[in-house]
Amino acid sequence: MPSAFSHALVGAAIGSSVSRPRRTWVLVLFAVLVAAPDLDVIGFRLGIPYAHPLGHRGLSHSLVFAAVLALVSYPLWRRIIPESARRMAVLTFFVVGSHGVLDTFTDAGHGIGLFIPIDDTRYFAPWRPILTSPLSVSAFFGGSGLAVLANEAVYIGLPTACVFLVRSIVYRARRSAA
Ligand SMILES: [Zn+2]
Repeated sequence: MPSAFSHALVGAAIGSSVSRPRRTWVLVLFAVLVAAPDLDVIGFRLGIPYAHPLGHRGLSHSLVFAAVLALVSYPLWRRIIPESARRMAVLTFFVVGSHGVLDTFTDAGHGIGLFIPIDDTRYFAPWRPILTSPLSVSAFFGGSGLAVLANEAVYIGLPTACVFLVRSIVYRARRSAA
């Protein structure tokens, strides 16, 4: 997996399309939601094998799971942001789904169960430039984390910064045209 920082960055980039004044808390919520699929590492402690559909990079990383979460979130969005509930549910799908898709670009570990429970196949992207982040916090801060962050700055940070930049230019252009 990429580090939680990079997943959060991607979640924030998707959430940056939300208009003010709600943008800040939506960004925080999306940053948490996008990292949530990796909570499946608890399965290691519960004795669930890595390759099991409920194991790490399994069901919680699936686009099917993201779609179900988006559907479940819709009534909540209707209560919080009634005028944009449908759009927020769609964004929830992209935020949660982005996690598994991004993980397919990592260079180690098992593939991602993008379509579990419909199809248990684990998938990798044909190009895998992103270094896999250590699963344990101690290993991450023990040295290899720095190499992971440097790698992610290139392959995730730069493209995400471009998204923020383009969004900012479009937003300013619209404001000046209004
Ligand atoms: Zn993951």
